[in-house]
Amino acid sequence: MTDTPAPTLDDARAVLATTFGHKNFRGLQEPVICEILAGRNALAVLPTGGGKSLCYQIPSLLRRGLGIVVSPLIALMTDQVEALRQAGVAAARLDSAIEPYEREEAWRLINAGELDLLYVSPEGLMQGAMLERLSSLPIALVAIDEAHCVSQWGHDFRPEYRMLGRLAEVFPTAPRLAVTATADARTREDIAKALRLENAAHFVDSFARPELSLTAERKTGRGAARVLELVRERRGRSGIVYAGSREGTETLAASLVAAGIPAAAYHAGLDKAVRAERLRKFLAEDEAVMVATVAFGMGIDKPDVRFVIHADAPASIEAYWQEVGRAGRDGAPAEGISLYSSADMAFTARRIEGREVDDAVKQTQGRKLRQLYAMLDGAGCRAAAVRRYFGEADVEPCGGCDICVSPPERRDATTAAQKALSAVQRLGGRFGRGRLIDHLLGKTKDVSDYEAGLTTYGIGQELSAVQWRDLVDQLLFDGLLREDPNDGRPLIGLGEALVVKAVYRGEVTVYVRDRPTAVGKPARSPKVRGAGVEVSPSDRALFDALRAWRRAEAARQGVPPYVIFADRTLAAIASTRPGSLRALEGQTGVGQVKLTHYGAAVLEVVCGFAPAA
Ligand code: ADP
Ligand code: ZN
Repeated sequence: MTDTPAPTLDDARAVLATTFGHKNFRGLQEPVICEILAGRNALAVLPTGGGKSLCYQIPSLLRRGLGIVVSPLIALMTDQVEALRQAGVAAARLDSAIEPYEREEAWRLINAGELDLLYVSPEGLMQGAMLERLSSLPIALVAIDEAHCVSQWGHDFRPEYRMLGRLAEVFPTAPRLAVTATADARTREDIAKALRLENAAHFVDSFARPELSLTAERKTGRGAARVLELVRERRGRSGIVYAGSREGTETLAASLVAAGIPAAAYHAGLDKAVRAERLRKFLAEDEAVMVATVAFGMGIDKPDVRFVIHADAPASIEAYWQEVGRAGRDGAPAEGISLYSSADMAFTARRIEGREVDDAVKQTQGRKLRQLYAMLDGAGCRAAAVRRYFGEADVEPCGGCDICVSPPERRDATTAAQKALSAVQRLGGRFGRGRLIDHLLGKTKDVSDYEAGLTTYGIGQELSAVQWRDLVDQLLFDGLLREDPNDGRPLIGLGEALVVKAVYRGEVTVYVRDRPTAVGKPARSPKVRGAGVEVSPSDRALFDALRAWRRAEAARQGVPPYVIFADRTLAAIASTRPGSLRALEGQTGVGQVKLTHYGAAVLEVVCGFAPAA
């Protein structure tokens, strides 16, 4: 209970302008902040780059007491704390990686009531000592970031998140806010239940990311050559390449480095110090490629990542969206490119089978996997498919994905599918794909009398081996065929009996997408050009000079460049060329503290570029 009147939306606007340098709230920031300022709990699903952090940072600054932010990753906390300090906010983190003196200083500030925001890990917060010390203090709010981690139905379940439900009892008067970028309806229910947010309002923003152009293509072999080609075509930009295994990241990174690309591998098997150094470099550079397992990324807030490439496909649409979503956080054009194969799908399916979880969970994960491949291999707008998946209604095609840009031709392949299915049935699922195709073409080497006598032998002359291969892939993606790994020599068997029957009876039409003619050329949105943010040629030199100044300043302080100013801010400065502190103050991303710290230096850089009279 405070004597001072409750903070209002006008107060929030003032903090947005003076501390963060932004004029208007974005998307659902305003209603979410209102809810928290009123002392009520909330659940917010905002797209990546949608500005989730301000939803709890601003109320923390306005409400009495300490704002607690629970976050799953140290890298995420480090970044946010640094960005807040740059804006003049008293923020600290308490985690296993900090030095004892930092810990002492944080507690001193907390006890003196001088800290605005404290970032903690779930396990760190829930252990007795910390929770007890915090429970007797005034708490402005408790924010739970990446809240989908609490749900088994989500894609990144973390058991330690389950404990966070107890916060309802420990901080009964503090509003609690759960935020995430990916949660379908069921995951949202689970979050609300597990975190005891029963009466909380849900705020779910559109999942549209117009700046992100999506493409996907079937890969041939392991796809390494294709990845190299894709990255080469994007020289000068930062990107992330996701691979399915640690070894995969190492070999891909090595081949990129050999091609002269500043790339590094990143996975959980690397030494901690090596990992930290690679991460630091990736964040600090304007052009860097990280080749990583999915262990890398949650909470990587590098805003100028221009492309994300899946060398191996992810496990669900949630994971896909989270991963490609790491491109273009600064709102400038970016690309999400996914390579996938039926072998990737079989690999993930096997992984799911091997998990020690309830059958119901396995079934859900299996369904999510199929939904992902239906999108990747489908013939509909990708962005629209993702948005519908997350429950959005009335979704229009995006106009920017590979499918929208050049719609694939669909052909009715039901008859061919029937032939393939009956061949698999006749062969008893004892053979791999190559043998199956030879059988259909009537080309089996040293064919036995028995096989040559089967009615399906040689009935598939109308298609080429490549076309059969594509069709078999398609049937695998559709669940009509199933691949048994058989220790690396996969066997093809029939898939779901009901659908197979329906195809036999002609009740279901099987469509195939024609192979894109330009395999080898990236499907590319016409919108994607240059290095991201729009800078006109006449402003380019100044923009580069501002970036150089920023890089030097960041290096001096040992922080990533983007916590000083975003590219977007530098681009705006380069185009408006402010001549005074007052003029600089009006730029997006320039708050009071940054104006004081960097204003003079920025004006000096601008001054050196005064347009010739
Ligand atoms: P996410 O939702 O992905 O966590 P962040 O909170 O990191 O997003 O914000 C993404 C970017 O958008 C940051 O660079 C942030 O400064 C910027 N941003 C957030 N809110 C606003 C706003 N209202 N106006 C302008 N920029 C904003
Ligand atoms: Zn589209």
